[in-house]
Amino acid sequence: MTSAFFIFFLSSSLWCQITIIHSGKLIDGYSESPKSVYSVLIEKDKIIDIVEGYVDPGDGDQTIDLNNYTVMPGLMDMHVHLSGESNPKKYIERFTMNVDDYAFRSISYAKKTLMAGFTTVRDLGGPINTSLKKSIEKGWVIGPRVFSAGKALATTGGHADPTNGMAFELAGDPGPERGVVNGIADARKAVRQQYKNGADLIKITATGGVLSVAKSGENPQFKEDEIKEIVKTASDYNMHVAAHAHGAEGMKRAIKAGVRSIEHGTLMDDEAIKLMKKKGTYYVPTISAGEFVAEKAKISGYYPEIVRPKAIKIGPQLKSTFKKAYKAGVKIAFGTDSGVSYHGENAKEFNYMVEAGMSPMEAIVSATKTASELIGEEKNLGTIEEGKIADIIAVKGNPLENIKNMENVVFVMKNGIIYKNLITKN
Ligand SMILES: [Zn+2]
Repeated sequence: MTSAFFIFFLSSSLWCQITIIHSGKLIDGYSESPKSVYSVLIEKDKIIDIVEGYVDPGDGDQTIDLNNYTVMPGLMDMHVHLSGESNPKKYIERFTMNVDDYAFRSISYAKKTLMAGFTTVRDLGGPINTSLKKSIEKGWVIGPRVFSAGKALATTGGHADPTNGMAFELAGDPGPERGVVNGIADARKAVRQQYKNGADLIKITATGGVLSVAKSGENPQFKEDEIKEIVKTASDYNMHVAAHAHGAEGMKRAIKAGVRSIEHGTLMDDEAIKLMKKKGTYYVPTISAGEFVAEKAKISGYYPEIVRPKAIKIGPQLKSTFKKAYKAGVKIAFGTDSGVSYHGENAKEFNYMVEAGMSPMEAIVSATKTASELIGEEKNLGTIEEGKIADIIAVKGNPLENIKNMENVVFVMKNGIIYKNLITKN
């Protein structure tokens, strides 16, 4: 009797053990201004309460003293590629690296991303992203929560055709199994294949791209009926569609066909902006990628010669497009295209967004609340609210006064587990 009571008491007290975060400033992701001196209470992987003042710990509770820091929801990057990272030898990797090599290398990219405060990412294409997602979920690898697009879908010779630039006998004719779509039947099959492979969403390359071995970075590459079929089929599996697009024509076809987000959107015109507002399409700007490729294109030999003029032309344009879209009131979700730039530097995007006219608070909301809405996870992620998953980070100083503080993440919690804690007393 006594021992049974004792066991019950012990297990119930373990059950009640909570983590209490004392936050100096709290940006919760939905209030217009930050709260000062609040406690966030966490039990297991959930936020159970947010209380004014500093709550004292009970027996066995853990207190994390972030009273000198700004606490906010885990950041969410809606456009990364964890399979790779920019380097001058990238173009021969597809001939020299096996999928296992990509997988092992991505472990460090995943960790860097999480340590930079990004607890959730959308991976928009690569050979190992779905497997990496599973490995992170199982705890084999440390990294952010991944929403994976698997392999991006392209048309023959399109931006994500995996055989662009290869000798004919090597290239062959990849079909929908390998993400190359021509026509309605292929569109259906390619989406179903990605579903079978474990993808969470679909990515298409609606126009040419900067870094592919192809002449145009902006031509339309899908017919509208093909994109419509992809969107319709994807919705059967509860998947949304993200569309890479630089040129306006391909972008408009994708918006009309009902994609959920436009990535890059470089040459977005007024008509495209109007359509996006009408359809509620999200814009994921990736200014970081534009800045990065424009800079690297100055180095002779860094990119193939066919890529260089595209990088020089398209790169610098993203910031002005962002400015235009922001002013017009298009919904903007944070995204960097990390992989095109270096992993772990995702937070540089905040500074670019603020330079282009967004307020620091709006930039933070784009990487938290708005991003969670884009992926349909607003009930679980994106804000610090009771009942949500405990993804919480802290940065030095006040990012609302100096947005570059977002690059100085000192504390990272994902699913209620602490992955980074660099806090110092006083
Ligand atoms: Zn990308």
